[in-house]
Amino acid sequence: MSDDAIFAGSIWAATAPIAPDTTQLKGDLQCDVVVIGAGFTGLSCALHLAQAGVKVIVLEANVIGHGASGRNNGQVIPTFSRVEPDAVPSMISAEAGGARVGEALVKLVADSARFTFDLIRKHQIDCEAVQNGWVQPAHSPGRMPLLEKRVRAWSRYGAPAELLDARGVQTVTGSSFWFGGWENPTGGKLNPLAYARGLARTAIRLGAQVFTQSPVLAVTRQGLTWQANTSNGSVRASRVVLATHAYTDRFTDTLWPRLMQSVIPVRSYQMATQVYSDDVRAQVLPEDHACSDTQGDLHFFRWDNHNRLVTGGGLAIPLGWRTRITERIAERVQKVFPQLGRPQFSHVWHGNVGVTPDRLPHCHEPAPGVFAFVGCNGRGVALSGAIGQELARACTGTPISDLAVPFTPLTPIFGHAIGRRVASLALLTYRRRDAREPVSA
Ligand SMILES: Cc1cc2nc3c(=O)[nH]c(=O)nc-3n(C[C@H](O)[C@H](O)[C@H](O)COP(=O)(O)OP(=O)(O)OC[C@H]3O[C@@H](n4cnc5c(N)ncnc54)[C@H](O)[C@@H]3O)c2cc1C
Repeated sequence: MSDDAIFAGSIWAATAPIAPDTTQLKGDLQCDVVVIGAGFTGLSCALHLAQAGVKVIVLEANVIGHGASGRNNGQVIPTFSRVEPDAVPSMISAEAGGARVGEALVKLVADSARFTFDLIRKHQIDCEAVQNGWVQPAHSPGRMPLLEKRVRAWSRYGAPAELLDARGVQTVTGSSFWFGGWENPTGGKLNPLAYARGLARTAIRLGAQVFTQSPVLAVTRQGLTWQANTSNGSVRASRVVLATHAYTDRFTDTLWPRLMQSVIPVRSYQMATQVYSDDVRAQVLPEDHACSDTQGDLHFFRWDNHNRLVTGGGLAIPLGWRTRITERIAERVQKVFPQLGRPQFSHVWHGNVGVTPDRLPHCHEPAPGVFAFVGCNGRGVALSGAIGQELARACTGTPISDLAVPFTPLTPIFGHAIGRRVASLALLTYRRRDAREPVSA
């Protein structure tokens, strides 16, 4: 099955408002900033640049939101995935700004859901946005001390985080599967493809130009400017933003080879159930939260606006993926939410999550005036938009040392070619750890 068909098979492709009209780049253009990639990062960057009166052109290889942005679970989560906020300041090298930038990054993440919903409200983006909170239930009693620590840490960064006991989690989720948890009411959910298309529509309204079906084959230096070349044209600009993330080598391996080698694309499967009745829906996530738990083999669930539960998971080996993942997840849904019975899945698709070795987001300036971001690590719906704004600030002259994201040297991951082939096997370790924890807690 082609990747275009996988993308088209998502529930988001079936339900999002249509994309703004765009065409392929033909001919040679000039602007201040050329943004490569029309996902949340590139589109937020373009929107903020256009808003500041900067002449910006976005070049997208396929259609708007064709990467992770149009395929994700749409959970707006203002946290890191596997890194504790308290650990971040000491993880940032002195070269990248040390604890000062680490603190700023944690604050950026803590505020990222608010940033996202404010942006949606400000520009009236039609994307099924619901800011009713994000809940992280604990899959073992042993996780509760960690969650207590997490709540204290995020509260210090201004997040209205709240610890929930088992009864509290049951009230919020409608399930007795978990042992407690915590909630961040600034989080929520949206239709991610609708959000991407809405960002594009807004950016265009503010003056940005967006070209689709225009893969950039190379970025070359032309005197004092850069030139992004496609097969039918080129764009010259003094600044370039590489917003191609875990899809950087999907269309060409000549775009910026070291960038792809700095991130591991890990496939995540997504699926949407049949439509449930209002009565059944009211028994599961009754307050309409987004929910993803503490397991390494992440259990995550949310409703769409049409009473479908949208969920998913991972596979260690992709062989026969459609049958294997739907059986595995149907069993999981039934176990966690027996009220739903054994679900049928009307839509099944997958996408690539960009994972970095230290699980932190990384920005780079691999050459003067060229900016890049990779490493959402599965928490990029809120964060990518916020980082897009930071990249826009970089393009308009804010020194990178003053931004809220660490700019690190672009270093290829050792053994990257093998690493990306075997990355999904890490799931086997996560599953063993998840299963062991209730006893060792
Ligand atoms: C299945 C899945 C589920 C996820 N669920 C969640 C979730 O629920 N919550 C959460 O917070 N995060 C989630 N994430 C992560 C989140 O989706 C990403 O962090 C975010 O979408 C990254 O956005 P981006 O703009 O940086 O990259 P992308 O959206 O991947 O955009 C990159 C774009 O670059 C384009 N491109 C690539 N090469 C070229 C080229 N040569 N020329 C021009 N364009 C090019 C691609 O076509 C693509 O459109 C999930 C990710 C996946 C894959």
